[in-house]
Amino acid sequence: MRIAVVGTGYVGLVAGACFAESGNDVVCVDKDETKIRTLKRGKMPIYEPGLEEVVRRNRAEGRLTFTTTLPKAVRDSQVVFIAVGTPQGEDGSADLKHVLAVAGEIAKAMNGYKVIVDKSTVPVGTSQKVREVIRQNTTHPFSVVSNPEFLKQGAAIDDFMKPDRVVIGAEDARAQEIMLELYSPFTRTGAPIMVMDCASAELAKYAANAMLASRISFMNEVANVCELVGADVDQVRRAIGSDRRIGNAFLFPGVGYGGSCFPKDVQAMIRFASDRDYEFKILQAVERVNQLQKGRLFTKIKKHFGNLKGKTVAVWGLAFKPKTDDMREAPAIPLIEALLNAGVTVQAHDPEAMKIARGLFGSKITYATNNYDALKGADCLAIVTEWNEFRGPDFERMRSLMRSPVIFDGRNLFTPDQMKQSRFTYYSVGRH
Ligand code: NAD
Repeated sequence: MRIAVVGTGYVGLVAGACFAESGNDVVCVDKDETKIRTLKRGKMPIYEPGLEEVVRRNRAEGRLTFTTTLPKAVRDSQVVFIAVGTPQGEDGSADLKHVLAVAGEIAKAMNGYKVIVDKSTVPVGTSQKVREVIRQNTTHPFSVVSNPEFLKQGAAIDDFMKPDRVVIGAEDARAQEIMLELYSPFTRTGAPIMVMDCASAELAKYAANAMLASRISFMNEVANVCELVGADVDQVRRAIGSDRRIGNAFLFPGVGYGGSCFPKDVQAMIRFASDRDYEFKILQAVERVNQLQKGRLFTKIKKHFGNLKGKTVAVWGLAFKPKTDDMREAPAIPLIEALLNAGVTVQAHDPEAMKIARGLFGSKITYATNNYDALKGADCLAIVTEWNEFRGPDFERMRSLMRSPVIFDGRNLFTPDQMKQSRFTYYSVGRH
């Protein structure tokens, strides 16, 4: 099939590369000229494990191309995906300006029947809005499909190639058939393709992210109570996770959720419910708990040291989660800002997010080339992202580099026993 994917970000680039990998001819479109130039040079604009290889292979075989010219890409394609950003607007709602602008551009370029697929995360009713914009700008026949994306950054290629399920909101048989054909290579292992109405497909994406965010905030509150009553959140987690109704995934307390999805999608869901006079009370609490959790590591550091002025803090991990360079809404940002405001010198290291961090903090912090260098002369270490490479460090070496052996572990990478043996003062989340 000939496919255009408009928006070559974390979702669009992965989707485009994976559709090419399954034999389709894909053109990825983005208005960001630097991004397209980078891709044409064979370089990746983002860090995502395995992506570069898939892109390289499919470019070499001529199935994957990149352009800033949308009209030709649309004319040459049967299916056009919209995968542009839907950032949080000032009132918390999803800002649809990019989606609707692209819909208008697609319509003006159409030269025959097209399936226009919305892959961006959008509130219920957006497929209807996209339909109206297209209708106003073309006389050609078309179908609008809602196909929310559930991939996780850091495991995006795997998630796309082997999805748990594919959700398709399609309200006509012709579009349904095309979508089923397109996705059949990805669901050979038995994952279901769920065809439903557009409103349900659109809502399913928000409900999934809201549920996952709720689990995180719930466990963060359980951890906070553990700290007060002398319980161990790891034991509590194991005890409840083994209940099949609950399950083990997504029960890890930490420094609060970040990224480009959970925070904005929780806000958007609260907002589109309130637009219909419904107060989504649980999600309001999920959001509030998350804000508070993002401040807890700093509070612990402040409580330990009292006056922080003149102290040096090493920070391990800047990306909002491991295996990505993405720092959107990363918990490291408010922590570093609070430390800087308190007069602290911050020495940070992240395996992939240093370039993005430089753009955010410039010369306000120092960037260590590896995790040990970040510890030189530090009064303590704050662990913010659970990169695998931080899990088994040489504690003796760490002690010898630091001014004082104190660790604030926001991700429970080590055990309190291990830390006692290694003679560290150790603060973690929900454990003693
Ligand atoms: P992103 O910011 O990484 O990429 C969006 C891209 O769209 C950018 O490259 C931007 O230049 C481009 N763009 C914007 N307007 C354009 C236009 N008019 N023409 C051409 N290109 C344009 O965003 P993302 O993280 O890939 O997310 C895209 C959508 O997918 C969002 O709605 C998001 O909520 C959703 N989503 C994201 C993830 C994720 O893990 N990042 C997962 C599932 C769903």
